[in-house]
Amino acid sequence: MTGQGRAEGGSGGSPRNRQISRGTDDDIVNQIKSRVSLLDLVQQHIRLRKQGREYTGLCPFHQEKTPSFWVNEQMQSWYCFGCQRGGDVIRFQELIEKTDFRGALDTLAELAGVERKQESGAQKERTALRRRILEMNRLAQQYYEYVLWSTPAGEPGRRLLGRRDVNEELARRFGLGYAPGGANFASFLKKRGHKLGDAAAAGLVRSDNQDFFGERVLIPIRDERGSPLAFTGRTVSAEDPRKYVNTRETPAYVKGRVLFALDVARQGISDLGHAVLMEGQFDVIVGHRFGVTNAVASSGTALTAEQVRLLARFTEEVVLVFDNDHAGKAAAFKAIEQAAEGNLRTRVGVLEGPAKDPDEFLRAAAEQAPAKWAQVVKAAQPGWEFWIRDSVRDLNPNLRPADLEVALLRVGEVLVKIADPALRETYRQQSAYWLGVDATRVVIRPPSAPRDGARRDQASGRDVSEPGPAGKEWSVPFRYLLEMLAVRPDAIRRVRDRLPEQDLEPKERNAYRRLLDTVGTEGGLQALGDALPGFPDEEQDLVRRAWAHPPASTDDATVDDVVARIRREITRRRVRAIISDLRDAEVRGDAEQTALLNTRLADLRREEGS
Ligand SMILES: [Zn+2]
Repeated sequence: MTGQGRAEGGSGGSPRNRQISRGTDDDIVNQIKSRVSLLDLVQQHIRLRKQGREYTGLCPFHQEKTPSFWVNEQMQSWYCFGCQRGGDVIRFQELIEKTDFRGALDTLAELAGVERKQESGAQKERTALRRRILEMNRLAQQYYEYVLWSTPAGEPGRRLLGRRDVNEELARRFGLGYAPGGANFASFLKKRGHKLGDAAAAGLVRSDNQDFFGERVLIPIRDERGSPLAFTGRTVSAEDPRKYVNTRETPAYVKGRVLFALDVARQGISDLGHAVLMEGQFDVIVGHRFGVTNAVASSGTALTAEQVRLLARFTEEVVLVFDNDHAGKAAAFKAIEQAAEGNLRTRVGVLEGPAKDPDEFLRAAAEQAPAKWAQVVKAAQPGWEFWIRDSVRDLNPNLRPADLEVALLRVGEVLVKIADPALRETYRQQSAYWLGVDATRVVIRPPSAPRDGARRDQASGRDVSEPGPAGKEWSVPFRYLLEMLAVRPDAIRRVRDRLPEQDLEPKERNAYRRLLDTVGTEGGLQALGDALPGFPDEEQDLVRRAWAHPPASTDDATVDDVVARIRREITRRRVRAIISDLRDAEVRGDAEQTALLNTRLADLRREEGS
């Protein structure tokens, strides 16, 4: 039987069942596990709610509307009943970072402040360089801010900001600065005894020591804790064909992983219950001036999956307020889709009037800006509704039959992008209402992109390598017994003698023995937690399931009852085997064997009845 071989060896190529190489690695794993709280780590990515003693939330690894992701704080273990993934803190980091065991270990070791002795030279160097770049960026922000406000050289920057109605208080909130050009920053660094190489690595100075952002207003792109990772430079010269330049990617900065102004906006997002996503950095800065304190920008890229995940740590809803043009609308559509994949609700705010972006809109509204903005947010339609209605905006389906055909086609193309079946159905019926037709006429079909649906299913997280339900071949009572032992190892005392392992079927025997050997010693839960990574997949799966969501009852009476049920099943199995042997003996005419088997059968039947 194949299932048996699997349980026996348990050393396949499965990523969950890796054997950690002995020695220093073990030490690091232990240090990480003792220092990094799984609950904290998970909460950096999703919102959790306490339910009973466990925590639950929407799974970050597959798309869902109702939480099936559980964290057991005590056991530092997580499990998702939706996609059947589960593991410890390292496995979580692996999946969320889309890296391997090593990569996850690197990140967590850094997070936990654990020194990695066998970290490769190249890795060490990169980590150190990253730190030096961050330090350099911090210095640059300070230096250029000083130049902007406290030196004559900052005059062009002050003029530009004045034209945009950005006052000093506001500018300082965002750490804006001015780079006058020349080699000022380089000489500042030299005087302070810093290496210029680091400034070059940070993308701040050119090889000739000149400011990379010369004659530009500097806008720091900071992480959610306010540490500058990179900069955008806005030219002050009308002739410069490149209005904005950005820091290229460095060990400290990966485009698409950071949201501009999240550090400044996180309080506002929490206060207002939603975030506002804009296109431009000046939109955001001006927004904050007019009380839109929850505004952020994706800066330089279309909204990415990583940015969605980042934002979803702080809120469940984002209002998209993009530029009033075709590009802005296209960007909004992309963002609606991207956000939906990360379980982030969208609404789309429309700027009525001639303003081409939020910056213009707010400045034109002046003291009425807060009231006018409140209207924009209030009127903002849910993302999918906006998209569906917009797709038929230029048509008149009520009057022209030909328009109706086109409208149905276009609506169908939007509907197919909604991955959640229930939500899709709601919008399908709603669309019929909007178009004034019977719901049966609205068909979810992707006329121009027939493969889209298939791709989405894959993206939503069911890779082929995913294992099925754990231990498919185990009986229900046996599974329940293992679950009880996983959360209440001391129950082993009531089980061990009444259920010798040789009575069990081979497919169950190994799992039972492993659990017995592990928790049967003095260690109990702790021992199980330590040994679990070495267990075969299906057993790890079962234990983590039980930890995530313990069996309803684990008291002594239940334990006894479950053991009794397993015993009855064992007896029944034996009876069946003897009856089969009996038939053979009768056919052979073996009277002696027949009598022996009949006696055994009678014994068993008595046992069964008792
Ligand atoms: Zn899941």
